Amino acid sequence: MARTEYLSKATHAQTRAHNAALVLRALYDLGPISRADVARLTGLTRTSVGELVADLERDGLAQDVGRGPSTGGKQPTLVALKDDARTVITLDLGERTFTAALANLRGELTTKRTGELEGRDGHQAVQLVHELIDDVRREATSPLLGIGVGTPGVVDADGTIRWAVNLDWQDLPLARILEERHGLPAVVANDSRAAALATYLFGGDERPQNLVVIKVGRGVGAGIILRDQLFGGDGDGAGEIGHVVVDPDGIECHCGRFGCLETVASVPAVVRAAGTASFGELVDRTTAGDDRVLPVVLAAGRAIGAAIAGLTGALDVRHITIVGSATALGDPWFSAIRDEAGRRSLGPLARDTRIIDGGTGEDVTLLGACALLLTRELGLTVHR
Ligand SMILES: [Zn+2]
Repeated sequence: MARTEYLSKATHAQTRAHNAALVLRALYDLGPISRADVARLTGLTRTSVGELVADLERDGLAQDVGRGPSTGGKQPTLVALKDDARTVITLDLGERTFTAALANLRGELTTKRTGELEGRDGHQAVQLVHELIDDVRREATSPLLGIGVGTPGVVDADGTIRWAVNLDWQDLPLARILEERHGLPAVVANDSRAAALATYLFGGDERPQNLVVIKVGRGVGAGIILRDQLFGGDGDGAGEIGHVVVDPDGIECHCGRFGCLETVASVPAVVRAAGTASFGELVDRTTAGDDRVLPVVLAAGRAIGAAIAGLTGALDVRHITIVGSATALGDPWFSAIRDEAGRRSLGPLARDTRIIDGGTGEDVTLLGACALLLTRELGLTVHR
C-alpha cells in the first residue's frame, strides 16, 4: 500500500471515529434529540448523522423514542441513548477498604461490594481487586464497557501507580494488569482527579468548562478540568496540592517532608491537632461552637483557602467544588476557606469565584472512576 493511500485510510478511520464520538456525545448530553438537531450542533451532514445513529442503534446504544414538536414540517423522530446499554465496573481503592460496583452509562450504581484491606500486603491487595471485579462482574446484565479505578496516590496517564501510601505499591502497572487478567479496557487515575470528572460529567445540567474539585478526607488533592478536559500536567501530577509544604516548621508527613498541606488540613491531621477521640466527635464539637476545637478547624480551613487562592490565581478557574468527609465540618470550616481564599486573591477574581460544598460524597470516587472510563471509551467498543 502506498503511503498516501495508507494515510488517507488512517485519516478516514480517525475522522469516522471522531464523528461517531461527536454524535454519541450529543445524544449523551442533549438526548432525546432529532437527527437534524444533532447535525446542526455537530456540523456534520444529515446523511453522516443518519448513518452514525444507525450504527449506534445497531449496537444497541441508542433508540428512537417518539416524536418531537414540529418546526414547520412533519414532527421529527427523536433519538436517545440507552442508559443501561452498557455496564462499567468501577472501583474505589480507599486506604482501608476497596469498593467495587457496577454502573450504567449515567453513573447509576448497583451491586456494590466492599473488601477490607487490613493485614494484606501489596500483592494481596491486588488479589482483592481481582476478587471484587470477578464478584460484581457476575451480576452484569448488559455488555461490559471496561473497568475504571480511582486510587489515592500518583498515577501515570497509562494507569501505572507510581506511589500509593499505605498500599505498599510502587510503579505498579495496574491498568495493564487488569486488562490482561480481565480482558477489558481499564483506566486507573488518582481519586481526586476522578472526583473532578464525576462532578463534571454527572454534576447536573450546568457543566462549567473549567472546574477545580478539591477532595479533603484522609488526604488532600485536587482534580482540574480545563476546557472540558481533565488536566494532567507534564507528569500527570496536576492537582497534587496535598504535598505542597505550607508550614516548613510543621510535623513530618508520610511523604518524608515536613509541613505538607495534608499534615495541616487532612481529616486525620485535624483530629490529631484538636485532640478529639474521633472525627465524629470533632464534627459535633465544631457544630456546637466549642472554643477548644474551633481554632484548629479554622486553621485547617485557612490552609485549604490559601491553596485555592494559589490555584485560582494561576488558572483563573472560578468554579471550585470541595468534596470529601471533611465537608462535614460545615459552616465554620467553609467560612474559613472562603475568607482566606478571598483575602489572598485579587479583588475581581475573589468576587467571581464560587466555592461550593460538594458534600461528603461517599460514592464520588466510584462515580469518578466510571466517568474516567466513559470519557475515554465513549467510542464505546463492546466487550462481552
Ligand atoms: Zn507530604
